[in-house]
Amino acid sequence: MKFYSTNNKALRTDFKNAVFNSLPADKGLYMPEEIPKLDPLFIKNITHYSLQEIALEIAKIYVGDDIPAAALKNIVEDAINFEAPIRFLDSETGVLELFHGPSFAFKDFGARFMSRIMGYFSREDDQLLDVLVATSGDTGGAVALGFLGVPGTRVTILYPKGKVSKVQEQQLTTNGQNIRAIEVEGTFDDCQALVKQAFNDPEVNKQMRLTSANSINISRLIPQTFYYFWAYAQLRAQGISDVVFTVPSGNYGNIGAGLLAYKMGLPVTNFVAATNANDTVPRFLTSGTYEPKPSVQTLANAMDVGDPSNWVRIQDLFNYDLSALQHLICTYTYDDEATLAGVQEMYDQYGYVACPHTAIAYLASKAYRAAHPGTYASILLSTAHPCKFPDAIPPALFKQVKVPAGADYLARGEKQAVPMQANYDAFKTYLIAHK
Ligand SMILES: *Cc1c(COP(=O)(O)O)cnc(C)c1O
Repeated sequence: MKFYSTNNKALRTDFKNAVFNSLPADKGLYMPEEIPKLDPLFIKNITHYSLQEIALEIAKIYVGDDIPAAALKNIVEDAINFEAPIRFLDSETGVLELFHGPSFAFKDFGARFMSRIMGYFSREDDQLLDVLVATSGDTGGAVALGFLGVPGTRVTILYPKGKVSKVQEQQLTTNGQNIRAIEVEGTFDDCQALVKQAFNDPEVNKQMRLTSANSINISRLIPQTFYYFWAYAQLRAQGISDVVFTVPSGNYGNIGAGLLAYKMGLPVTNFVAATNANDTVPRFLTSGTYEPKPSVQTLANAMDVGDPSNWVRIQDLFNYDLSALQHLICTYTYDDEATLAGVQEMYDQYGYVACPHTAIAYLASKAYRAAHPGTYASILLSTAHPCKFPDAIPPALFKQVKVPAGADYLARGEKQAVPMQANYDAFKTYLIAHK
């Protein structure tokens, strides 16, 4: 399948180019030229399939022309090697836990799939593939652990000093092998600016083969559709076929994948976009005017995005039809105080300790149900394990949070990070000296 730019549908490229370039030259986003419906028989019989089998069925549609079946099967099975169970809070509300991968966040789906796709496409290249990534916390961990040990690749992560949680920092800095971390004296925006400058620097690009791992890469979007179908399969196995998904949203990649799944024939009644104070999309869906704002810092910091990059993709998916989007997507917004209360309420009512992003989804799904009574299942997407967000969970609850087993090696490793000022010359000198 070919992929077009949302700025110019005539501009088409193959999957490999779309993955390595991340963005078309015209700064649109890549979208698949076709969105085939899954075979209705497959959807009817979906309870017979595992998460990996569902994933492979979907991956084949988009990637089947570019990667032979046996190799694609290996990629999918190696990438999606963890569970995504639904935990029911009560008979009508379930939490789809997407945090059972190595970095304890849903970004593992995208990062692991992308890393293996990139590894596959560069398997015969002599030159190392250098992935540069700026992170405010969650993306870096998923990319680091996703690429760890993938032959032919190396990852350089820039993160803001003192602004990521302990578990996040361990995920970024204790890996060694093909992963290196730079601790920047500055903010996430400074980190992102350094990465952008490197991508635009001809001298660096002459000496290194750079690529980006950011969330707008099409190879991160596709694997995020897998778990929507898998959630549906789990519901169907319980005799439930009406579902509303509530997605805590920042850059709108996660919900964008859900909407793509919907276009592929997944029967979904409604989507709920749950946000923190960064409410550009909720305001747009109300007013019809897209007015991005600088991001504001919140407790659910993985959603602190004032101008969500994936929103154009969603617009493109619906041919810029505002009323279609208004019918399909409901939005609810919560401030930090409400978020903390939501974390507490999930614990008090259900004994469930959730990360702040998940708590926002919980509040939104509750508000949606109050406004739309019915017999459907409310499935809220839990995007991260609570252990990553100690500052956003009341201390008495956080005491009960255990870092999942399997991550013990993170605690044992020594922190290895290069300290750096937020200064491009310093970054460039480092890159070239260690190329
Ligand atoms: C990245 C992230 C989000 C936001 O997802 P988008 O795809 O950017 O909307 C929400 N919660 C957590 C924990 C995340 O890491």
